[in-house]
Amino acid sequence: MSTSVLVINCGSSSIKYALVSERREDRIFGLAENLGSADARIKGVTTGGAELELSIPHAGHEKALETILERLSHHNPQAIGHRVVHGGTLTKAELLTPEIIERIREATPLAPLHNPAHLVGIDATMRLFPELPQVAVFDTAFHQTMPSHAYRYALPKFLYTQHNVRRYGFHGTSHAYVSERGSMLAGSFKQGGWLTAHLGNGSSTCAIWNGQSVDTSMGLTPLEGVVMGTRSGDVDPSIHSFLASNLGWDIYKIDKMLNSQSGLLGLSDLSNDMRTLIEASEQGNEDAALAIEVFCYRLAKSLAGLSCGLPRIDGLFFTGGIGENSAYIREKTVSYLPHFGFNLSKDLNNNLKRGTEGRIDHGTGPQIWVVPTDEEGRIAKETEHVVNEVSATAKKPDAEIAIA
Ligand code: AMP
Repeated sequence: MSTSVLVINCGSSSIKYALVSERREDRIFGLAENLGSADARIKGVTTGGAELELSIPHAGHEKALETILERLSHHNPQAIGHRVVHGGTLTKAELLTPEIIERIREATPLAPLHNPAHLVGIDATMRLFPELPQVAVFDTAFHQTMPSHAYRYALPKFLYTQHNVRRYGFHGTSHAYVSERGSMLAGSFKQGGWLTAHLGNGSSTCAIWNGQSVDTSMGLTPLEGVVMGTRSGDVDPSIHSFLASNLGWDIYKIDKMLNSQSGLLGLSDLSNDMRTLIEASEQGNEDAALAIEVFCYRLAKSLAGLSCGLPRIDGLFFTGGIGENSAYIREKTVSYLPHFGFNLSKDLNNNLKRGTEGRIDHGTGPQIWVVPTDEEGRIAKETEHVVNEVSATAKKPDAEIAIA
C-alpha cells in the first residue's frame, strides 16, 4: 500500500482508530473510550510500539477525533476509512458523499445501535477534515453476492419488497480478508469453496465460493446465527410471544435479554469471556462446560448448514479472538463435523503460536487453517481502492467517461 489511511470505527461511547500504512508491524492504533464522561481517555500504541494513555475529560466524539488526528497529522494520512456496520443494499465501499451518508442514515432502523454512532463520527471527521477523501466500508457489503434463496426469509413478500426484511450478514470485512488471505496461503487465491468461522465476542460463519460470500449465519441483524458472548444466536422466534404471554415482558426487555444477557453469559450464568469459561470448566463448573459445548456444537451445525451453499469444501478458516487463540475450541468444533473428512492435527493445532497463521490439519481431507483477521488492514485497502478509482475517473476526459 503506498498511502497511509486512518481507519475509524465509531461506537456510541468509543472510537477505535488505526493508522494503516505499508507495513502491518508499523501500525499505530488505539481506542478513545468513555466519551462524554469525566473519565474519557485515549489508550493506544504509538510509533515504535510505545504505549499511549491520554486523559481527555468530558471529550465527545469530535474532540476525541480532533485529538487523535492532531497526534497523527505528522504521519500525513491521505484518506479516512470508516467502518460502517450496515450499508443496507450498498454492495461495495463508497466515497462519502451527501447521497451515501443519506443511504447510511436510511439503514439505521436495521442497525439502531451502530449506524447512528458511525454517523456522529462521519459528521465530525467531515467537519474537521473537509480536504481528506473519506470512504465508508460496510460490514454487510461482502455478503451482497448471496443468492436470493440464501438471503430471503420465508416471510410475506411485502416485508422484503417494501421494508427490506432479508438476510444481510455482518463481519463481512473479516470474512473477506480471512478467506482471501487463507485461500492465498492454501495456494488457490479466491478459488474453491471455503467456510470461515469468525469467533469473537460477536461470532458468525460464512460460506465462500470463488472469493464470493454465498451464505452467512448473521441475518437482518447481528443477533441471528451461532452462540455469541452475550447474544443468543438462533432461537425459536416464538420466544417473543411465549415471554410476553407468560412473563408479561415487553419487546424491549426481550430484545435486551437476547442481545445482552444470553449466549455464553446466559448459558454459564458466569461470563461472556471464553477464557474465563474454559478455566471454570477445567475447575469443574458444569454450566461453563455446557456453555462451551453448546457453543461448539451450534458452531459446527452452522458450518454444516452453510456447506449446502458450496459445490465442494476445500477447507475451513478459524479467526477472531477465540478462533485464533483457542486450540481447545477449534478441536471440539471440528469433532462435531466427523462426516466432512476433516483430519485435524492435534500437534499442529496445540502448537500454533498465538496470533500467527498456520495450517492445522494432517494434509488429507479439507484443509483447516487459523488466519488472524485484519479488519483495519482490509478497510484501509478498500479505502485506498475507492480513492484511486475516484481520482482516476476524475482525470478522464469527458468523452472517455461517456463511453466508459
Ligand atoms: P474478539 O471479540 O475477537 O476480541 O474476541 C474476544 C473473545 O476471545 C473473548 O471471548 C476471549 O475470551 C476470547 N479469547 C481470547 N484469547 C483466548 C484464548 N487464549 N482462549 C480462549 N478464548 C480466548
